[in-house]
Amino acid sequence: MAINLEKFAKDNGVKYFMISFTDLFGGQRAKLVPARAITDMQEDGAGFAGFATWLDMTPAHPDMLAVPDADAVIILPWNKEIAWVPSNCVMEGEDVAQAPRNVLRRLIAEAATKGMHVKTGIEAEFFLLTPQGDQISDPYDTAAKPCYDQQAFMRRLDVIREISDYMLDLGWGAYQNDHEDANGQWEMNWDFDDALKTADKHSFFKFMAKTVAEKHGYRATFMPKPVEGLTGNGCHAHISVWDAPGTAAKTNIFAMDANQTSQTAELGLSEKGRYFLGGIMKHASALAAITNPTVNSYKRINAPRTTSGATWAPNTVTWTGNNRTHMVRVPGPGRFELRLPDGAVNPYLLQAVIIAAGLSGIASQADPGKRHDIDMYAEGHKVRGAPKLPLNMLDALRAYDRDKGLKSAMGEEFSAAFLKMKYSEWNDFCGHFSDWEKANTLDI
Ligand SMILES: [Mg+2]
Repeated sequence: MAINLEKFAKDNGVKYFMISFTDLFGGQRAKLVPARAITDMQEDGAGFAGFATWLDMTPAHPDMLAVPDADAVIILPWNKEIAWVPSNCVMEGEDVAQAPRNVLRRLIAEAATKGMHVKTGIEAEFFLLTPQGDQISDPYDTAAKPCYDQQAFMRRLDVIREISDYMLDLGWGAYQNDHEDANGQWEMNWDFDDALKTADKHSFFKFMAKTVAEKHGYRATFMPKPVEGLTGNGCHAHISVWDAPGTAAKTNIFAMDANQTSQTAELGLSEKGRYFLGGIMKHASALAAITNPTVNSYKRINAPRTTSGATWAPNTVTWTGNNRTHMVRVPGPGRFELRLPDGAVNPYLLQAVIIAAGLSGIASQADPGKRHDIDMYAEGHKVRGAPKLPLNMLDALRAYDRDKGLKSAMGEEFSAAFLKMKYSEWNDFCGHFSDWEKANTLDI
């Protein structure tokens, strides 16, 4: 039985609900609904014009209704009279197939029919910039190796502490915060959870970090490469699969089976885990269109060395044990880390594409290939036969377009809408006249 939002409002002093949904580009859209009107909205949804957002719809489409997922409601820790509630998009009684949260829900249900329940933890790195977004907010944060910088941390303690306090209030299991590898960059970690819960928390975390930063006079950005020459914003995902959702989960299906001898078993991954990883490897170039969805994304994964000495981002489809220079790291038994996604990733599509690629790998018993236990930043040129990740958004979109298996696993309607909107964005980018081309072409 779902939470009754009207009663929830009365019990908790909530005066308004933000009924929110996420579009194809990861933008969060919301209506603010007074508690007095929530009963009808909980049943029928709040009406939106899909064309006004990044969804493949026209002005002639009927109303799209965002139906709150009441059990996922979160009271804003910074304004307790308002509660945010993520919603599922419905049109004329049917789930909107291209809506990212619906894509994820469908894949979670599909995995469940196979007895698999994906749990993930994500590391949503971000920068604190000036409000204009053109420089980092702390002019004294200039060290060549700024990672874990204790003094720079103290200068932004108010922001990080406030967000951390809110995560503690929300019971997310917040456990560490640090100044990351770029000047002005931060990472805050909370416990892993079921894929849909992690996606909702990821969305809310972005909303919260941006809101708290604004309150303090800064701008939080998850842009993949907001500052040229510095390490970019990754969104690493730690993936495991269990026998049941939530607290009913008892057995980690990815943890090594007895008597296994494969390369992955050495690292503590079961056969199912190995095939799931095989699916991620097999679809890597295509799934980059989802995990690295912007023009700017490819300035992170194909970057020259940064001022800190490493990009911390992969550029090749390789995997290894506990070594951060590869696309996939298997840091310990029963899980692996996908280091490809960046801060621009759509929280719902990130989880969806992991499940889609993993299920495909299990279905086809995909071999993840040879493990490379080398420093990819120093010795990557020695690896033979490993595909390079796409060099730009167009390459990634074309790779996605060619990958019929992944396209259909993500849903034909979703894939068509996503590709249409993203190709259009690429064309828009190509029409942009840059200083670079003038500098390099004026005197030809
Ligand atoms: Mg990090």
